[in-house]
Amino acid sequence: MSGRFHARASVTHVSPAYDPHQKLAKFETLGMTRERNVHLARTLLRRGKARDADLARRLNDCGSLTRGQRSWCNSPACAICMRETRRWFTSTVSELIEKRALMPPHGVMVTVVPPQFRASLGKLSKLDISALRRRFWRSIDKLQLGNVPVIGGLDISFNESAILKEPGHYQVHLAFVVPGLRFAPKRFRKALSRKIAAAFDVEGIPRAVVVQPLRDLVPQVSYLLKSMFSRRVSIVGRRGRADTKSHSLKTCQLIEIAHWLDAGSLTDRMLLHGIRRQNYTLISRHQHRRCTRTK
Ligand SMILES: [Zn+2]
Repeated sequence: MSGRFHARASVTHVSPAYDPHQKLAKFETLGMTRERNVHLARTLLRRGKARDADLARRLNDCGSLTRGQRSWCNSPACAICMRETRRWFTSTVSELIEKRALMPPHGVMVTVVPPQFRASLGKLSKLDISALRRRFWRSIDKLQLGNVPVIGGLDISFNESAILKEPGHYQVHLAFVVPGLRFAPKRFRKALSRKIAAAFDVEGIPRAVVVQPLRDLVPQVSYLLKSMFSRRVSIVGRRGRADTKSHSLKTCQLIEIAHWLDAGSLTDRMLLHGIRRQNYTLISRHQHRRCTRTK
């Protein structure tokens, strides 16, 4: 990857036909992201450590006018900057897949939850996003997909159980799309799922790998890079089946995730394999096809 990524500048490269802001009724609004920033900044200030106060100040100042110009904080912990980044990422990836002959609908969307990618409460800084990306690339290499690009993102949740008396933990989730596959979808998906489980060392773990057809580009691609994180509680469902419920993060988890994100850049959670980013352009390495929009 190259080029410093500015959240606000990325919006001028959003293709309206693939803009989640216009295409998805439930996509976060600017008002929602402002409220989230205000809430996070207040929470940080209540704790009051120097690094909390520093992040709170940057969140509060994001989008403010300085000498007639708006300034943006470009922190991945900032809901406003992350929203703009998601708009660019979703629209650019969707356009690349659909318009640049990567052959949908013969593609899949995959989620992987590797138990190796987890950390205890208070230890999240030990999860190095660059190292996670490198492990992702190594696992994708093992799949030997040839010239097919793989595009995805890292997500995180705090997982706990309402059944077992165990402490909860942070869990990283990987979500990626593999477009341009020319195989019989159902049979192929099962075989691919087994290969992915082996490549990520999650064989035999229930629900660790889910492979779905790539059907609806903008909603599915927007799922790759999330800006809201939750606490997932394992429960026993109505018919005695294992189920999961999502809740808001507790204050200590919200702050720990915010600092973990803030230590990196807006593009850190993007997973690109067989694709490279040059400023606001994504280039498919093997096909030398570009996807960009000029201002
Ligand atoms: Zn910001």
